[in-house]
Amino acid sequence: MASILLDLDGVLCDFVGRVCEIFDLNRAKIVASWPIGVSNISIAIGIPEPKMLEVINGMGDEFWIGIKLYDWADELFDFCQDLALTYILSRPTHHPTSLSGKVRWLYNWKGENFIRYNLSWYKELSSCRNSLLVDDLERNVEDFNKGDGKAILFPSYTNKRHAEFGNITIIKEEIAAWYNGCSK
Ligand SMILES: [Mg+2]
Repeated sequence: MASILLDLDGVLCDFVGRVCEIFDLNRAKIVASWPIGVSNISIAIGIPEPKMLEVINGMGDEFWIGIKLYDWADELFDFCQDLALTYILSRPTHHPTSLSGKVRWLYNWKGENFIRYNLSWYKELSSCRNSLLVDDLERNVEDFNKGDGKAILFPSYTNKRHAEFGNITIIKEEIAAWYNGCSK
């Protein structure tokens, strides 16, 4: 059975925007000057990762709950859901509130009966026949494509598809092409 796995941060919601908010950084400026080829936000904002995580972890669930949906999140999720069973596949941090915060975020978005999520460090384990991952991290896409599934790189200023960031039409066409080509 065909299934679509959607990454959260950078695909459906604005993790970078939330980090900019709590560190009082200008998101537009950060994005405009994002170093090409860099996916690590700590490098892009010039705050060491341990320091950044210390602040995030100190906020508990509230950090995660405060992450805003991208404008296209509902459109993209509903588009996928109309094609195939659609799940959220998101990697937590080492801190337990990353897990609880992401679950609460999902409940706020989809309601407390929503169970189609997988919070895992090993996204590639979900790479099976007729599964599609949509993810903005190139490494995740490469690892997933080593399995039996297929992964599409979601356009972002953090990856090589930076020029297409925000172009949901393109990604929907690629998802539809995958669906039409898979055996269901
Ligand atoms: Mg991501």
